Amino acid sequence: MEDYHLLITRQKAFFRSGQTKDLSYRLHALEKLRDTIKTYEQQFLDALKLDLNKSEFEAYTTEIGVVLEEIRFTRKNLRKWAKPQKVKTSITHIGSSGYIYPEPYGVALIISPWNYPFQLAIAPLIGAIAAGNCAVLKPSELTPKTSELLAKLIGEIFPKEYISVIEGGVERSQSLLKEPFDYIFFTGSVPVGKVIMEAASKNLTPVTLELGGKSPCIVHSDANLKLAAKRIAWGKFINAGQTCVAPDYLYVHRSIKNEFLTDIKDAITELYGGEPLKNPNYTRIVSKRHYERLQSFLQDGKVTHGGSTNEEGLTIEPTVLTNITWEDPVMQDEIFGPILPVMVYNDLAEVIDGIDNHPKPLALYLFSENTSTVDEVLNKITFGGGCINDTIYHLATPYLPFGGVGTSGMGAYHGKGSFDTFSHNKSVLKQTTKFDIPLRYPNLKDGLKKV
Ligand code: NAD
Repeated sequence: MEDYHLLITRQKAFFRSGQTKDLSYRLHALEKLRDTIKTYEQQFLDALKLDLNKSEFEAYTTEIGVVLEEIRFTRKNLRKWAKPQKVKTSITHIGSSGYIYPEPYGVALIISPWNYPFQLAIAPLIGAIAAGNCAVLKPSELTPKTSELLAKLIGEIFPKEYISVIEGGVERSQSLLKEPFDYIFFTGSVPVGKVIMEAASKNLTPVTLELGGKSPCIVHSDANLKLAAKRIAWGKFINAGQTCVAPDYLYVHRSIKNEFLTDIKDAITELYGGEPLKNPNYTRIVSKRHYERLQSFLQDGKVTHGGSTNEEGLTIEPTVLTNITWEDPVMQDEIFGPILPVMVYNDLAEVIDGIDNHPKPLALYLFSENTSTVDEVLNKITFGGGCINDTIYHLATPYLPFGGVGTSGMGAYHGKGSFDTFSHNKSVLKQTTKFDIPLRYPNLKDGLKKV
């Protein structure tokens, strides 16, 4: 196994030089990152095509465009976020003032997954740079073309002691995890999240874990069905369902089930055509192992739409499964593919109970026109974040911190959330020397006295 100790030692020394804390250094680094991403844009689109058969439209809107917007937003607001913040002091602290100084942790490790291999590597890096950290980025080995290009891009614009990319798989990741990083930001699966947290505990390194799970999508009786169907089909089948916040399964109210199933079939056909597997731009499943895992779910319930597969191309048609219960294999773990199981409910209480009996979801989506239904769901179900009458869109605004809760993760990022995640808030009380209030001292008889 490689020894990364020298690299981390050099990064720590570079961090201690103070250069990365300088605001103009950070802004300039973000500017260079933005400009080089633009230069490499076509190469990244090509790499994403080779790694996952992503179309240029999808690759730009969900990976490159999102990251460029995040850089723009961060550069615009960074001076404001980085300023020490003056806070109130209580009456017992008269004469003093309180400040919060955001400061970088030091050297951060960012480990990213394969499903949005560009966005999920660069978006946390923007936060690390903005907050003034050095960083080591470990992209996923399952998307090698994108990983290689990320290493090339970063290597070209940043010295290794500032930001480095270490390519490779589990062994390299585990070797890195032995080093005493000052922060670890991990995006990936729940089981690996546990490995990361255990490794971090050895050095008491703080972590952000962006994990996954089964994200429910509820279609209530009063929903705008046609629009719901279109927004659900988009959020579920984008990237062939390999999205951490994709609606994993549907809970549909019995009274509108038949009408809604027709609408969702129409929506799928509208978005992907009659024969999606023949569409040269239809995203493929990342590996044979994942393809086989997904294919086995096609035995569950009844295939109401889709169901065709292409082993050679590793593609699976957008598929809707009905007659599904919590006991089916497809309902045991996050699906992470273009298969949408549908369960039916009579009463909202059943839905709340069903979701509550399972790990806390990363996302939840509710389609309803009724405020009290919305309030009831928001009040009674815990989840990382989500949308009312939409899917996925909540993670595309830098004004909403994005993250999970319980087994779907801890911590959040995007926009100021990213800056906060990679910053320690140092609390400082500045005390007056003009007078001294003796109340804290054991002997009170002198009262207020001049010093
Ligand atoms: P993964 O956990 O298998 O791998 C993620 C990263 O961890 C990769 O870089 C991999 O090399 C590394 N890794 C894998 N096993 C490791 C180990 N034992 N020790 C140390 N490092 C290890 O996840 P994945 O398959 O790449 O991604 C899919 C998962 O990620 C899904 O569960 C999905 O929900 C989740 N995800 C979450 C988010 C989010 O923002 N919450 C975003 C995308 C994906």
